[in-house]
Amino acid sequence: MTLEHAESFISYLRWQYAKTYPSYPHEYTCLSWQPEIKQQMIDFARLIQEAGYTERFGKRDYRVLVIGNMKYWTMDFPLENTDLINRTYADEQFRAKVASYVQSGKFNYTKGMSLADVTKQIESGTTDFIVPVGNLPSDFLQPSLEELNEFRSYIAKLKWQTAKTFENFSPHQYVLNFPCWKMKEDGKCKGEDETCAECKEQRDEFEKWVLFIRKYGERCKMLKTVYIVFCIDGRQYWTMGDPLETTWVLNRALIDEPRRVPKLEWLDK
Ligand SMILES: [Zn+2]
Repeated sequence: MTLEHAESFISYLRWQYAKTYPSYPHEYTCLSWQPEIKQQMIDFARLIQEAGYTERFGKRDYRVLVIGNMKYWTMDFPLENTDLINRTYADEQFRAKVASYVQSGKFNYTKGMSLADVTKQIESGTTDFIVPVGNLPSDFLQPSLEELNEFRSYIAKLKWQTAKTFENFSPHQYVLNFPCWKMKEDGKCKGEDETCAECKEQRDEFEKWVLFIRKYGERCKMLKTVYIVFCIDGRQYWTMGDPLETTWVLNRALIDEPRRVPKLEWLDK
């Protein structure tokens, strides 16, 4: 297959946005949708191997080929087994923009949509808001849009730290929050009162959102521990500590974190 051939081949395929990978937006086409193209698909996969270049993704090297503004790759070896072609925008910055959009609450997913449909939404900027909360059954308790947006502005103002020791195992960020008595114990609060107004205000706000996560979150099991996890805008939030007065840590991570080693088991899906 020549590049010219390839251009006309890909132009008549049906492409569908891959919903399960919001951190790396792409679309794919399946052999099962159009079995008559089996040989062409194999030829195209061979062209990627021969005319493309190697790119590292996660722990694997892939051969990719750029045609027009799109980058193509396949995953099956031997080539004769190829039954899927993936593609995404070759421009990394543009792809990052799409990634942040599909992980935001503004993204309006419809089944069967293409990557171009996603881009159209970004460009038109007229999508209605959809509630992005996790994968819960529909009869689960869900927060109101107002509460969601309040939560969004709270997490946006926090100063998140990266958990360095977990970087290659379970990458996440965290914030710490302590009540006044603990701040005094650690020498960080010099307030006269038993509970000073300043500590109380930031602590009350923190506890409010800890309870929010515990009320609306879903159960997620990791390494035999079940956490209550609240999912929003492509990230999952969970807290550590019980009772509430000794909850000091709020964590967050990408739901689809590619570097995470332990498998997450979602118990409420
Ligand atoms: Zn204080």
